[in-house]
Amino acid sequence: MAINKVAVIGAGVMGAAIAAQLTNAGVPVYLLDIVPEQATNRNIVAETAIQKLLKAEPAAFMHKNNARLITPGNIEDHLSLLADVDWVIEAIVEKPQVKQALYKKLVAVCHKDCVISSNTSTLPLSVLVDGLPESFAAQFMITHFFNPPRYMRLLELVTSPKTRPELISTVQHFADIALGKNCVLCKDTPGFIANRIGIFWLQCGILEAIELGLTVEQADNIIAAPFGIPKTGIFGLLDLIGLDLIPPILSSMTRALPAEDAFQPISQLPTRIQDMIAAGLTGRKGKGGFYRLN
Ligand code: NAD
Repeated sequence: MAINKVAVIGAGVMGAAIAAQLTNAGVPVYLLDIVPEQATNRNIVAETAIQKLLKAEPAAFMHKNNARLITPGNIEDHLSLLADVDWVIEAIVEKPQVKQALYKKLVAVCHKDCVISSNTSTLPLSVLVDGLPESFAAQFMITHFFNPPRYMRLLELVTSPKTRPELISTVQHFADIALGKNCVLCKDTPGFIANRIGIFWLQCGILEAIELGLTVEQADNIIAAPFGIPKTGIFGLLDLIGLDLIPPILSSMTRALPAEDAFQPISQLPTRIQDMIAAGLTGRKGKGGFYRLN
């Protein structure tokens, strides 16, 4: 089995960057998204998305001619393209019902040896496959890329006993050879490995910074190097991830972990962060964040 063509669904922070990394590796990629409901002119939507992509990953399209970037169009219009794709990476919003609705559409078009994977940060694999056909579970796994994908070598792989072993090894081999990833097989536990730990220290950092009355620059200067995130620190990392992703991650971890678990997240984000999200200050992808107003 070989991966000759990939589709990434969801052209947001992660999907666009994953597609860009694949494109740079010379792999033909389709990148699909939905047209926002308020959009009246699809061409403008498509043009804007491509511009955003180019802005986000300026060096990513050197092999542009190798790839077919289809962005965005309405996903319904392009589902038939997926018939000869060998790996579909789902990188859409962190909501299980929305992801599952998409999987039902994929079942109808993807061939039986096509790997279908989710880039979910924290949703359990057992929840994502619940109620879907056995044949879907056999080709499904979680491939959790880290942000930004072209610099972060870690790829967490979460599989189930139903996932076909040959599909797992195909992804491991491809991720290693084509993308230079270090794959770590994880159990289907809350937050897998990296986010189980990462979300915990991220929230500790935020709460301590507020408690001590630190500026974001002070907090990040103090925490960045010792924690091995020299470029961004905590608040810069939040800008990169997108602040709007934090509430669904926290609630998914809260649901999945026992109440007394040491890694149980805080029940509510600090008010000032909630206010930022409500105002569209979701970080680099929004009107700005802790460091930048767009
Ligand atoms: P995002 O909000 O930046 O992008 C999501 C994209 O999905 C949007 O462009 C949206 O239009 C599109 N979309 C929504 N519903 C869709 C549908 N039904 N069909 C097609 N497209 C649809 O989100 P993101 O931050 O890129 O996160 C995507 C996934 O990756 C989530 O599961 C998230 O947990 C995970 N993840 C995010 C990060 C991060 O740093 N942001 C890191 C690792 C994993």
